[in-house]
Amino acid sequence: MPYTEIKEKGNKKYYYRAKSVRKGEKVEKQRLYLGGNLKKQELHEKEQEADKKLLSPKESSEKDKSSSPKEHEDSKKEIENKEKVTFNIDKNKDFSNWYTDIVQKAELADLRSNVKGFLVFQPWSVLSMEKMFKYLEQVLQKKGQKPYWFPTLIPEKNFKIESSHVEGFNPEVFWVTEAGDTKLEERLALRPTSETVFYQMFSIWIRSYKDLPFKTYQRANVFRYETKATRPFLRSREFHWIETHCAHATEEYAMKQVHEDMETTKEVLHDIFCLPFLFFERPSWDRFPGAQKTFAADVLNPDGKVVQQPSTHLLKQDFAKGFNVKFKDKDEKEKYCWITCYGPAISRIFASIISVHGDNKGLKFPWKIAPLQVVIIPIGKDNKITEEADKIKKQLEDNEISVEIDDSEKRLGEKFYFWEMKGVPLRIELGKRELDKNEIIIYRRDTDKKESIKIKDLIEYIKKASIEIDQNLTKQADKLFDNNLIDVKTKEEIKEIIESGKIARCGFCSVEKDGEKCAEVIEKETGATVRGTRLDEKRDEKKADISKCIICGKKANHIVYVARQY
Ligand SMILES: [Zn+2]
Repeated sequence: MPYTEIKEKGNKKYYYRAKSVRKGEKVEKQRLYLGGNLKKQELHEKEQEADKKLLSPKESSEKDKSSSPKEHEDSKKEIENKEKVTFNIDKNKDFSNWYTDIVQKAELADLRSNVKGFLVFQPWSVLSMEKMFKYLEQVLQKKGQKPYWFPTLIPEKNFKIESSHVEGFNPEVFWVTEAGDTKLEERLALRPTSETVFYQMFSIWIRSYKDLPFKTYQRANVFRYETKATRPFLRSREFHWIETHCAHATEEYAMKQVHEDMETTKEVLHDIFCLPFLFFERPSWDRFPGAQKTFAADVLNPDGKVVQQPSTHLLKQDFAKGFNVKFKDKDEKEKYCWITCYGPAISRIFASIISVHGDNKGLKFPWKIAPLQVVIIPIGKDNKITEEADKIKKQLEDNEISVEIDDSEKRLGEKFYFWEMKGVPLRIELGKRELDKNEIIIYRRDTDKKESIKIKDLIEYIKKASIEIDQNLTKQADKLFDNNLIDVKTKEEIKEIIESGKIARCGFCSVEKDGEKCAEVIEKETGATVRGTRLDEKRDEKKADISKCIICGKKANHIVYVARQY
């Protein structure tokens, strides 16, 4: 259905009537200029006039006549561009537009759902995220975590048990208050996270030290009433994640779990998803509500901002006490458990997959999580070519490689650009000339190069290439951190470094409550936040520059990292 768009320039309003039209795989927008600063009645008449043109395909070819001259030029240019390439935006110069555009062009998510802050995840992202879930769950299960499916609704009384938790999450909770015509006796929260339902059950299930460690996880969608602007995958009001919850006999065992979670993050995010990150212990003011310690992985975005990815927490014992999660120890004494939780948000990690790996031509996927790994493009309509394409497809499927044949009516160049934009790692071109020599041409998205190989060597070639593809993506991604961690001595230097898209490293007085004031100064003056301290780094006494807090000048007890975040 057509709808009206309003563009404001100065104090003038310009009206356009627009409509989305599906053309094969693509959705295009048709727009008609209605006029500037229209009165209500006038606008209504113009809208009706425009609708007639938009809704009748014959007349829509004349749409340019009623468009403004500028519009006419734009649409002409758009057609010319489309014939050359499917996608071409300079990612490094214009990251924000690049991201918004690729999400729509590659059909990762449709933002036109009419529930505010929620989006529709489309097959091209879901297929990849399904694989991401699979790999993460495999690693968790190997480490003894057991899968559960908990209720989506949480009674308000559970929620209120741990005070800092309720305080932290309350502003973001969606509440269910009615069922049909009946008002519920107790409000139910649409889970923003599930500590308070897991631990209520832990108190029933855990009895003795023999039950420990008790390791659980669930794959779930969670809901948070985000008030910041939503951005597809990165921030929306519903997201898809895994949350793990583990109970332990001692604080020491619990801390071991936290380290195991960090190791899991490396094994999955770095080794399979090819994403580089730094793990920080968050300062006290930035901990998970109810946590005693919080550790989080920051992935660096190409625009120099960091994105918080999985975080793992050692919870305060208030949780165990509030929910009565106790066990009888070997010495016959009743003790409270130490609980940890870890939350990799798959839909958010997908945002980093898009941002870190993509280039000016569009998406690039690591081999294991590509929605489609190989596309076969027959060149020409010849029975022999069709047969060979089917044969190769079957052979790849037998080797558990996902594959599709593109025999659509599109022009060859269009097909190439389309699948490159979609980020399919390998393309097989099947032409008569090569086939006569028992050869095929393979294009690699990671290197942007083509080569000919013998058909009989195909499986071996793919096995080797799949490893190289991931190595290349990792190498390129790791470069984001190269030369981007810079030591600074003054506030002005922080500002300079942050503005050049880098991360600043400096001396800092305290990561406990008493250091928060200094962190606020940094945030106010540079727009960047203190991400925390690194576990793998000890303070280097020899470095005079970082012996003092960069803000208050007191003795620096820590080295912290400062960056802008999403
Ligand atoms: Zn200070």
